[in-house]
Amino acid sequence: MKQASVRVRFAPSPTGHLHIGSLRTALFNWLFARHYKGVFLLRIEDTDLERSKQEYTESILDAFAWVGIVSDEPIVIQSERIAEHTKIIETLLASGKAYRCYCTPEQVVARYEKNNPGDAFVKYDGLCRSLKNHPQDVPSVVRFALPVDRQEVVFEDLICGRVSFHINQLDDFIIARSDGRPMYNFVVVADDAFMDITHIIRAQEHLINTPKQILLYEACGYSVPQFAHVSLILGPGGDKLSKRDAATSVLDYKKEGYLPEALLNYLARLGWAHGDQEIFSSAELVSYFSLDHVGKKGAIFDAAKLQWVNAVYMRKMAAADLYTYALSCLDTRAQEKLKKYHATNRQQLYAIIDLYKERAHMVKELMDMVLLVCEGPLEYNAQDLVAWIAPETEQYLKELIVSYTDCVQFDLEQVKHVVKHLAHRHGLKLVQLAQPIRIALQGSSSGPGVFELLLILGKQESVRRMQILYDNLQNKAL
Ligand SMILES: [Zn+2]
Repeated sequence: MKQASVRVRFAPSPTGHLHIGSLRTALFNWLFARHYKGVFLLRIEDTDLERSKQEYTESILDAFAWVGIVSDEPIVIQSERIAEHTKIIETLLASGKAYRCYCTPEQVVARYEKNNPGDAFVKYDGLCRSLKNHPQDVPSVVRFALPVDRQEVVFEDLICGRVSFHINQLDDFIIARSDGRPMYNFVVVADDAFMDITHIIRAQEHLINTPKQILLYEACGYSVPQFAHVSLILGPGGDKLSKRDAATSVLDYKKEGYLPEALLNYLARLGWAHGDQEIFSSAELVSYFSLDHVGKKGAIFDAAKLQWVNAVYMRKMAAADLYTYALSCLDTRAQEKLKKYHATNRQQLYAIIDLYKERAHMVKELMDMVLLVCEGPLEYNAQDLVAWIAPETEQYLKELIVSYTDCVQFDLEQVKHVVKHLAHRHGLKLVQLAQPIRIALQGSSSGPGVFELLLILGKQESVRRMQILYDNLQNKAL
């Protein structure tokens, strides 16, 4: 393949937020372009005036900006090219490759049912193709005249292999509505040719459009690009991925605190493989990506695996970077709290982030834990209280408070020594003291190493939180 020639595009319709499956298709296009040192372009297909909204265009572009996929040339807005589309349709009409049809949809159906009883797939019978006298003041659509000498449309799909459609599966399809607005298949061809697109990598649901589009390319005298149809993303049940299975809007993943690199890494592996490798740098994805290794079958979306990939990326990040990232994706309230701790006790905040980042899968989940530890528990986990707080615990807590208050050096050695000494004296296992301390410090018994937590919070704050639990127990408030 001539490397410099590759030009691909992703063309979303602004009728909703960017879908996770669409992002994968865009990513495959982007990786293909980067691999061949080609050009990746975006086109907004906003010609469906009833359903297209500016807010969706903005949301789609926000999602792309978040994951760092940008158009290499100015974004093409389809609705701005309508005059151009009309011109091309006039040319097709003049050359006889398209014609005006004055039949109403009801007439088309009635004639077809009469001549083809029992056939559910209605096709236009071509009545107006040879019309000599055009009626005046009657609305008309423009139909594409299927070439008479053509038996089938065959193409070599770069993922699906050889695909052929018999011409009988098609009819003289409409390329412009009676109000003059051009139809989807025509506009796609006109714009892809305008943008010099060489490879069309898109969702498999467009396979059915491909024969019509190939015939249009040929009729317009454009060179036909190569096609690659990517299989669907499926939910765990094997049906098309729906909102019941997982968040389908890309920006919802941002709100949950997924990292864009992790999401792209996961999506790249959804239907594409490079041996058994799961974690890829961006450079590796660009270097290894090829359509040869994109599967033909639908790929099943695995939310747990996505979380695992995200956790791998999170653990590699420095606390300061996780903090900065959290400010870009969390809600304002969480941001304000984090900023407050950052301003007053940056080192402690970073130490808590580092201590807890092994235990979370998403940045939001991590920062929820971090904020809870920073603020101290507002309540205690009821099950953990039942499991770990015995009648004697009150007394142990009191002794811990006294010993820790007396500590001159609140360091790892001393912090451990106090717990070990007390356990030995009362014949306890370490965990019988460690868990009540954890509950006092962070509200629950599951968490990181209790000694690390004591050191990060410091003597004064640790003692204060143990005192609160002690007071609660004494007052029988729990
Ligand atoms: Zn007609």
